[in-house]
Amino acid sequence: MSDEQSTAGAKRLPVHAEMSQFEIREGELVVGGERLSLLAARVGRTPFYAYDRALLSRRVAELRQALPPGVKLHYAMKANPMPAVVQWMAGLVDGIDVASAGELKVALDAGADPREVSFAGPGKRDAELRQAVASRVLVNLESPREIAVLQAASQQLGVPARVAVRVNPDFELKGSGMKMGGGPKQFGVDAEALPELLKDIGRAGLAFEGFHLFAGSQNLRAESICEAQQKSYELALRLAEHAPAPVRFLNLGGGFGIPYFPGESRLDLAPIGANLAQIQARAKTEMPEAEIVIELGRYLVGEAGVYVTRIVDRKVSRGQVYLVTDGGLNHHLSASGNFGQVIRKNYPATIGNKADALERETASIVGPLCTPLDLLADRMDLPCAGEGDLAVVFQSGAYGASASPQAFLGHEAVVEVLV
Ligand SMILES: *Cc1c(COP(=O)(O)O)cnc(C)c1O
Repeated sequence: MSDEQSTAGAKRLPVHAEMSQFEIREGELVVGGERLSLLAARVGRTPFYAYDRALLSRRVAELRQALPPGVKLHYAMKANPMPAVVQWMAGLVDGIDVASAGELKVALDAGADPREVSFAGPGKRDAELRQAVASRVLVNLESPREIAVLQAASQQLGVPARVAVRVNPDFELKGSGMKMGGGPKQFGVDAEALPELLKDIGRAGLAFEGFHLFAGSQNLRAESICEAQQKSYELALRLAEHAPAPVRFLNLGGGFGIPYFPGESRLDLAPIGANLAQIQARAKTEMPEAEIVIELGRYLVGEAGVYVTRIVDRKVSRGQVYLVTDGGLNHHLSASGNFGQVIRKNYPATIGNKADALERETASIVGPLCTPLDLLADRMDLPCAGEGDLAVVFQSGAYGASASPQAFLGHEAVVEVLV
């Protein structure tokens, strides 16, 4: 049982990593340079997501500082596909990773250079593969089936099909929130099947460019990430012997996590930077044409976003305070704990228009849906709040609006703003 679950009725709950990326001014949280109540007035209604441009830029700058020059940084846009965000990110990073034809459209609309767009994902439909070839983006091939489809599209369109092979490695990313490689998986092609597949790619005349390895997600342990990167590099080096062309693209994945829950601390980038520098130095002689790429989603955007709801009602039930808001799991499934978490824990939250109020109490923030799953904060220490106040969930810039069942119970769709 988690700490939180065992503290029913207790006054104090474990504290979250301080959300110091947002300043407090005149008692209010500042997002995009504006006090929250004014931002809410500007948006015109609640609930809404707000993503802070300056924080997005700052995050990319910090990463550039920590990573060796020459390592390419891609944004995995499934973390936040809002077109304005993708456009902003396209101006900051070196490439965009998409996972559907729908995302491909948003990336190209945003002005991403097709040479630096890659398309991964299981179950790519024939039409999607054809769109990818016509768009001249790199396809991360995940199944032998895709070879024939790409070959046909390429011949029909008179455009070479650019491919990298997504490898399902023979190891896992230790300590990941979500494992996406190792063992049997629907992602990528098993490493042991690669030699044969690479021959087939050569025979089909596809433009082979390299490998994509993605072991897992939401990892806060630098050592585990370094280990996975080392093993990925070694594996790619072995597979390169079978490749029909030199490796020019080597995507070592990402998996960089952000702190969501009490007791979690920030990922230490320094060892990861040093590790990548070492890999890069080896690649210089062992795979001289290879560009090292890392692809990040939540690490780039997650901490720059907040979800803002208005408190509709304040209820007290048998001594416990409930702040009932105008949005919940229908807009923010992951904060409700229903997006892959094993044990529900609270995302960091506050009352945004009373962020530094001294009067505090233990309260739960619940959404308006008729289900006990609609819980944004379970018995948290919060500034005292009531009707009209703004409840804010931090760490909400990734896997928010697009990863939530917005039609559930028929409430209005959430608004998203980039500020
Ligand atoms: C989901 C996904 C990502 C992004 O994961 P984050 O945890 O948001 O960084 C990157 N690459 C691939 C292949 C993915 O499926």
